[in-house]
Amino acid sequence: MKTKIFLLIIGLAIGTFVGLYFTQFKSVLTLKRSVKTEVDYGKENDFLSDLINGHEEFKTHYYPLHEKEFLDLVDNGQKPGAIIITCSDSRIVLDRLFSTNPGQLFIVRNPGNLAPPYTIDSTQLQASVLASVEYAVHHLGIKDVIVMGHSDCGAMNAVYSGADLSGFPGLIRWLSIDSDLFKSFQKKHQEHPPTKKEGLFLFEKFSIVGQLHHLSHYPILRDLLKDESIHLHGWFYDVRSGGIDYYDTDKKGFFPLSIKEIGS
Ligand SMILES: [Zn+2]
Repeated sequence: MKTKIFLLIIGLAIGTFVGLYFTQFKSVLTLKRSVKTEVDYGKENDFLSDLINGHEEFKTHYYPLHEKEFLDLVDNGQKPGAIIITCSDSRIVLDRLFSTNPGQLFIVRNPGNLAPPYTIDSTQLQASVLASVEYAVHHLGIKDVIVMGHSDCGAMNAVYSGADLSGFPGLIRWLSIDSDLFKSFQKKHQEHPPTKKEGLFLFEKFSIVGQLHHLSHYPILRDLLKDESIHLHGWFYDVRSGGIDYYDTDKKGFFPLSIKEIGS
């Protein structure tokens, strides 16, 4: 009897291992084999060499000059002045655009600078921006939330032109966040439809205002917005000119960003 139980346990253990191998370990082993541990960056990818050289430059020149600030950020924590939700687009280099330093901006990036509408059963996909805003506002005490879109946005163009995204389930799900907004945009312009170029430009700005509306319903922001202890800002960066426009909620339009206009 004891032998039978022993053999049964051994059989179960082997069965479990084989099952795990095919469901888990095999994919890990396959992945491990596909990741190179030693790469001649200079030969395989010049840009990776540029990145490594750039990092050497950072370690040799920039870091020693700013070591005290970096250590202060570690010892005393970050105290960013604003959270900015912007597009993943590589042409947006925030610290250059605003002459900011490490520790000053809390940044969320995604295709199309979207802030998904709040729902109680937020999916993991939708919870990413929500989680960042909650952390920024509750833990870091940030009082300004900025959504910054930009011109020539690939994500907005895909929504605007109804691009065929079949085969890209992530993009389909993510950009569907803006599908209702796009319907509203079409309705608004149905009597006098703009040209495609003008229309995309207008929709990029329209979408920013839509994201502000979504954010205004986030539980962490709702009450704070009511008593004006937190502020939402919609900004639009024109990659071609380098200029930024802000959304004026009273005038319902975008105007060049300046301290005089927006207040300080
Ligand atoms: Zn973009």
